Amino acid sequence: MSDAENPSNPTPDEQTDFEPVQVFDDETEMDLRPGADNCYKCTSCDTSCPVAEVDDDFPGPKFQGPEQWRLKRKGDEDIDDSIMSCSNCMRCDNACPSSVPLSQMHNTARGEYVDEQMDKLSREYIRNRILSNYRIMAEIGSKVPRLTNFALNNSVVQKVNEKVLGITSERDFPEFAQQTFREWWHERGGARVSSEEKKIAYFHGCYSNYNTPEVAKALVRVFEVFGYEIAVPRQRCSGTPMFANGMLDDAERAAEVNVSEFSDLIDEGYDVIASCTSCSMSLRQEYPELFEFHGTAEVSAHTYEAMEYLRIHEDLEAEIENASVEEQSFAYHAPCHARNQGLEHQAVELFRELDGVNIEDVGDSCSGISGTYGWKDEKYDTSMKIGEEMFDHMEHAEGNVGMTECPTCSMQMEHGTGYDIKHPLQLLEEALV
Ligand code: SF4
Ligand code: SF4
Repeated sequence: MSDAENPSNPTPDEQTDFEPVQVFDDETEMDLRPGADNCYKCTSCDTSCPVAEVDDDFPGPKFQGPEQWRLKRKGDEDIDDSIMSCSNCMRCDNACPSSVPLSQMHNTARGEYVDEQMDKLSREYIRNRILSNYRIMAEIGSKVPRLTNFALNNSVVQKVNEKVLGITSERDFPEFAQQTFREWWHERGGARVSSEEKKIAYFHGCYSNYNTPEVAKALVRVFEVFGYEIAVPRQRCSGTPMFANGMLDDAERAAEVNVSEFSDLIDEGYDVIASCTSCSMSLRQEYPELFEFHGTAEVSAHTYEAMEYLRIHEDLEAEIENASVEEQSFAYHAPCHARNQGLEHQAVELFRELDGVNIEDVGDSCSGISGTYGWKDEKYDTSMKIGEEMFDHMEHAEGNVGMTECPTCSMQMEHGTGYDIKHPLQLLEEALV
């Protein structure tokens, strides 16, 4: 059964009844207290945690959530600094049989730790703030992409970044495109299809705009083939790197802009489509868990990942069965945040029916990079240890091109194997446009 047909995945009508998780029912301030009593210490979350698996010093999700709460209840305990070692992969959410909202508790604890206990002049804080606000760096860097690409990948600059900021020199910075997606979009004159019934508002996020506009262009072309009118409103970062670094004020400012822009379009009949599974996760789950802006619940209920949406609303399977592409083999990795949305099987299910394609799922391990996590000097080795299983499975798969929906998983896959990596939308474009 496909994900689109799976009854565990809500239909659009069901999604309008989305109920935000109320962990902090009786609280006006976010804190760690409510929500933890559902935990019965089964440790399923701990055994699912990729960081705890390779890092003996990391106490795991049960401690970061329910146990910290108990400690806090006993006295005015500080948040343990190990909360900064949680990568926010959110795998523990799926593992908990008691629906303890672990990642929400971690996000809140991390926010409190950063706000109240972290030295704002420390190297760690400054580095994390820069990484969390990638959009600002990308906005500036993409004005002069050749110069920025040269500078950021110069070995001397990389070593200085490592020494001064603690950003690992082991990784190459992703290149900025010569033209951003938004520049391309404006140059082509915006939407080329009009429709009263089929309307989507595209949340492209930062990476597809500044680094891989080919993914965003593929989304536009594929949705236009199906007759969708596309809007590309003003938008900020989804907040994913900010949640992961405890920068909740930055995340709140970004979310306020996104909710305002996209909820206005929802009122006009648009659904929100993301090409990155961490962006869709953020709008769907983290916004309603942490913020209360007018329109937050509507944005959550109307947000979809791109292929998920097409599988629900179009006969994508039939289109793919009638299409063909040049022979190619892929090693597919499902990002953790795709798993949390029940989307881990859709690319393999769909593309194995595409003439010319051989695609293999490389297993359910975490890639290990988790956004900004694997860019931190002190986390690089942990990140690569977590990724070993995926690298190994990729190398044993028949294909030598990787595929994934998440831009940072894609960086890790390329870094660990040397493979080129494609987004599923690029293969859809090849097949259907
Ligand atoms: S979010 Fe991921 S890294 Fe953090 S505690 Fe949960 S499973 Fe571990
Ligand atoms: S999986 Fe849920 S119930 Fe089990 S220990 Fe973790 S938080 Fe508690």
